[in-house]
Amino acid sequence: MELTKWREEILKIIEKSKKPLTAEEIYKINKFKPNFSTVYRALKFLEEKNLIKSISFDKGPKYFYSSKKHYHFLYCTNCGKIEVFNKCIASQLENFIYKNFKFQITDHVFYFKGLCENCKEG
Ligand SMILES: [Zn+2]
Ligand SMILES: [Zn+2]
Repeated sequence: MELTKWREEILKIIEKSKKPLTAEEIYKINKFKPNFSTVYRALKFLEEKNLIKSISFDKGPKYFYSSKKHYHFLYCTNCGKIEVFNKCIASQLENFIYKNFKFQITDHVFYFKGLCENCKEG
């Protein structure tokens, strides 16, 4: 696969990041400063090649993260802030699903909606 310089740079930014990034954030970090639509096309390309994944919540922007990472998301419905953790709690549930639906799971995405520390009452 041929990766151009800026695609490589964008992939590097995403792989180094400890949290998922929006296109806007990636655009700001990228030292090659391609225009915004170039960043967007590169993200689309990397996602089609399964090198990165994306997720979006309600009306919020898309967040991109490395396919090598396994994230679960906490989404604040009040301020739109997201947090991630990688403690995976799915294996019991996957056994249950396999037994009951004969469904072979290859991946899962969990996100929890609620209120973050700043937004919750009291
Ligand atoms: Zn919040
Ligand atoms: Zn998991």
